[in-house]
Amino acid sequence: MAKYDITHTCGHSRTVALYGKHNERERKIEWMANQDCPSCWAAKKRESDALKPITATISLLPFPGACGHVPVFQIALTGGTEPRKEEIKSLGYKWGDISGNFMEMLSFSSHQKGWVRKIEWITDDDVAASIVALAPLNPKVVNNIKPWDVALLKKKQAMHESQEAAVSAIPRPERPACYPVGGWNGKIYGGFRIYVDGEEVRLNKADAQAIVAYQTAMAAYQEACVKVREQVA
Ligand SMILES: [Zn+2]
Repeated sequence: MAKYDITHTCGHSRTVALYGKHNERERKIEWMANQDCPSCWAAKKRESDALKPITATISLLPFPGACGHVPVFQIALTGGTEPRKEEIKSLGYKWGDISGNFMEMLSFSSHQKGWVRKIEWITDDDVAASIVALAPLNPKVVNNIKPWDVALLKKKQAMHESQEAAVSAIPRPERPACYPVGGWNGKIYGGFRIYVDGEEVRLNKADAQAIVAYQTAMAAYQEACVKVREQVA
């Protein structure tokens, strides 16, 4: 190991420790002398990034949304976002990993970071409004929605619809009029005592039976719904 003083093209100099063969060190020293120092290099990179146009990439994500079937699309802002950071934040974007679309998820490439907004695609207006809102940033809009994303989504939606159709064909038990209203743990003590919102309520025999029958029927109904969803999936 030896230490060398290097003067960079920006005029700054620094001392670096180098290892390895003599001719490799010489090559490294020559290469570094032809570069700006690391802090000038970073500052120039920030400057040139800030001058780049903002790119808005729109993708359809392979995961369904919170409701299990609503498609989610992602707008990712990259490029010269730094000077417009506050504006971007106020539009609801958060800095983080950019999710890939279906094919990009399969390739294990590391995720790029950027300003991301995920929007549940309930109506086409939601999509259009989010893009219109970007107009002040004058972004280059890139449509990254691929035919297979749409195909996958349609398949998922069709599955969801047939699941819901199968579930709605199962008769739902009717809740008896005597069913407790309020906070109840679902338990009947001694065959007639229940606690609703912390207060003891005494049931007559017929009501207690009706409630138990309903609870049993409800449990069977829920089990049947789960089964039918699994069968259709
Ligand atoms: Zn410098």
